[in-house]
Amino acid sequence: MTELSGGPSLPQERRVVTAIPGPKSQELMARKQATVAGGVGATLPVFAARAGGGVLEDVDGNSFIDLGSGIAVTSVGNSAQAVVRRATAQLERFTHTCAMVTPYELYVEVCEELARLTPGDHEKKSALFNSGAEAVENAVKIARSYTKRQAVVVFDHAYHGRTNLTMALTAKNMPYKHGFGPFAPEIYRVPVAYPFRWPTGPENCAEEAAKEAIDRIVKQVGAENVAAILIEPILGEGGFIEPAKGFLPAIRQFAADNGIVFIADEIQSGFCRTGQWFACEDEGIVPDLITTAKGIAGGLPLAAVTGRAEIMDSVHGGGLGGTYGGNPVACAAALGAIETMRELDLNAKARRIEEIMKGRLTALREKFDVIGDIRGRGGMIAIELVEPGTKEPDAKTTAAVARHCHQAGVLVLTAGTYGNVLRFLPPLVIGEDLLNEGLDVLEEAFAGLE
Ligand SMILES: *Cc1c(COP(=O)(O)O)cnc(C)c1O
Repeated sequence: MTELSGGPSLPQERRVVTAIPGPKSQELMARKQATVAGGVGATLPVFAARAGGGVLEDVDGNSFIDLGSGIAVTSVGNSAQAVVRRATAQLERFTHTCAMVTPYELYVEVCEELARLTPGDHEKKSALFNSGAEAVENAVKIARSYTKRQAVVVFDHAYHGRTNLTMALTAKNMPYKHGFGPFAPEIYRVPVAYPFRWPTGPENCAEEAAKEAIDRIVKQVGAENVAAILIEPILGEGGFIEPAKGFLPAIRQFAADNGIVFIADEIQSGFCRTGQWFACEDEGIVPDLITTAKGIAGGLPLAAVTGRAEIMDSVHGGGLGGTYGGNPVACAAALGAIETMRELDLNAKARRIEEIMKGRLTALREKFDVIGDIRGRGGMIAIELVEPGTKEPDAKTTAAVARHCHQAGVLVLTAGTYGNVLRFLPPLVIGEDLLNEGLDVLEEAFAGLE
């Protein structure tokens, strides 16, 4: 391996050799500030040099334990061997023809895999795109075309992207929507079963939230006007909210009973992230359409809408597409990522991560009553921080804990409508020692608060 190679050969260790950010990162940050738009933020202001396995190395030689995976993207690790091998081979064959001009086999192969892997044994078809937001936009287009209806129902705490339609579908104003209106019409938001914050407590949450959501759809929108109900089976940016058991099946049934297309947005929760290929399998949900992106291609930009053949085919010829959608190099990478998921049984790895993390975090909650809730599944785990003895969100402590972790060489991300959630999305190939060391640092961060 040469000096500049990343990938799985990178030493799997935490190493802090400079202040964070180090001098080279600071120099690059000055150049970034001079030339990159200020609206493009950085969670951890160090510049990446190499990444692989469970670590990310910066330009100053610091090595961070990666508990973010570039936001749930590099589930198979950075520069995973099968991804590099297949994408490199494709780079040398051809880089682009435009799938709408001259199709290629790789595009079809990815759609065949999506038909096999997504829930349900009905006939399925797919269309490929470049980003999650683009997939969500197209899922809505397809649902409207099929139902000849316009309304789209979304949920509190939802995140679906940053384009105009997906901003409208997203719940949180700051930073995603603020000042960017007007937004697309015919979007209706209803409550989600958020057990930790449900007013009457977690026991009644699923039933009451489903009743309230359905009531509002029927009374305020009219079920017969609704094209689609769109939901993340585990809400991502909203703070890894797992809807109380029973909520998703109730909403799914309501959609089926009323001719509404049920769309599962599995862009963050899909592809082994939660210990199953898709998070909706947990309650046996079979969506009509499913959107995927993030973990699908080991870091290359690819996204998809997959769903019932009759729904997907309701769109007129030429109605779906895009210049780059299903780029051949990204498709090759996706086949490499899927191969890796199967070969390494990343679903099992994700479940093992959950076991380790929930054990450690439960012990941590005994010691630190700022931790109000622990939740998530597989390699998608979060803790919600509150002022002790209350449910008052504590965004300040959340930021302080994240900062301590960053200074000590552990990359963690925050999330949540109230900014008080620490979320953990390690590459599913991370070593157990490294994961445990990351959790040691997290514990030190909490201990340092006092
Ligand atoms: C990240 C995300 C999106 C948007 O994906 P982009 O590739 O950033 O456009 C949409 N939905 C969910 C659930 C996501 O996590």
